Amino acid sequence: MTKLGIAIHGGAGTIRKSQMSLPKENNYREGLKEALLEGWKYLNENKSSVDAVERAVEVLENNSLFNAGRGSVFTNSGKHEMDASIMNGSNLDAGCVSNISNVKNPIRLARSIMDCSEFVYLNGRGAEEFARQMNLDFESDEYFFDKYRHEQYIDAIKENKVKLDHSGDPYSSETKLGTVGAVALDNKGNLAAATSTGGITNKKYERIGDSSIIGAGTYANNITCAVSCTGQGEFFIRTVAAYEVSALMEYRQLSLEEACNIVVNIKVKEIGGDGGLIAIDKDCNISLKFNTEGMYRAYISSNSDIYIGIYS
Ligand code: ASP
Repeated sequence: MTKLGIAIHGGAGTIRKSQMSLPKENNYREGLKEALLEGWKYLNENKSSVDAVERAVEVLENNSLFNAGRGSVFTNSGKHEMDASIMNGSNLDAGCVSNISNVKNPIRLARSIMDCSEFVYLNGRGAEEFARQMNLDFESDEYFFDKYRHEQYIDAIKENKVKLDHSGDPYSSETKLGTVGAVALDNKGNLAAATSTGGITNKKYERIGDSSIIGAGTYANNITCAVSCTGQGEFFIRTVAAYEVSALMEYRQLSLEEACNIVVNIKVKEIGGDGGLIAIDKDCNISLKFNTEGMYRAYISSNSDIYIGIYS
C-alpha cells in the first residue's frame, strides 16, 4: 500500500517551557496543526508532495507567529527581506528566491520560478518583477509589521548585533521563533521539500541564509529523502546540511535517522552551529532532529497519528 507522510517545522532554538505561557504555547500548537493538516489534506486528495509542502508553508507564512512571510523579522534598514525555496524530488526541479519584499507568500514565488521560468534562482527586484508577471499577491509594509518583531529589531540595533530569531548568545535569547519548512511523501512515492524565512533580525548587506539555497536549507531526491533545515544559516550552508543527509543515505547506506543525527549533532554542531531539520524518506520514515533546546515541529503519516512537539 502507498504510504503518505508530511512533517513541518516552525524554527529551532532557545525554546523553554518555563518561558512560555500556556496561551502562547497553544497558539503555536494550533498554528502548526493547521498547516500540517492542510498539507495532509492535499496528500489525501491525491495532490502531489510539491503541492502539499507549498500549501503547508503558505499557511505558516500567513501566521505572524513564525519568521516567514507575514511574521518576517526586520533587516538593519527596517525592511523585510524574505528567502524561500522548494524542491521536487522526482525530477530534481527547484525554485529559489531571496531578498524579496512585500510578496505575500515567498514560497508561491519559489514554486512559480520552478514551474514557469527557465531559471532556478531569482533574487531581489528581479524576483519581485517576476512575481508581478505571475500575478502573485503583494502586501503593504503594514501587513508585515509586527510589534514583537519591531522590538527585537530595536534591541538588535541598540546592541549592534545580528540576531538569529531563535538562538541564545551570541545572538541573544529570543522566544519568538522561526523559519518554516515542510517535507512530504505522496501517493506516487514522490518526495518534496520547502523552506521559507525572514532570515535573521538586523541582517545587512542583503545577506542570504541557507533557506533559499538548494542543498543547504532544502533538498529532495526520490532515491533518498526530503529535508528542510532551520538554524544559523551560515553553518547550514557551510555543511551543505540538507544535501549531506541525502548523500549519507545514498553513498553510505545510512538510515534517515542516522544521517540526520550525523548532520545535526556532529557536522553542524562541531563547527558551532545551532539548529535542526525535518526529513522524510521514500519509505515514509520521518526524522525531526535538533541540537537546540527546542524546535517547533509536527508530523502525520500513514504510519502514525498526528504529533506536535516544541521542547526537546
Ligand atoms: N536558517 C535561517 C537563516 O539563516 C534562520 C532560521 O532558521 O531561523 O536565514
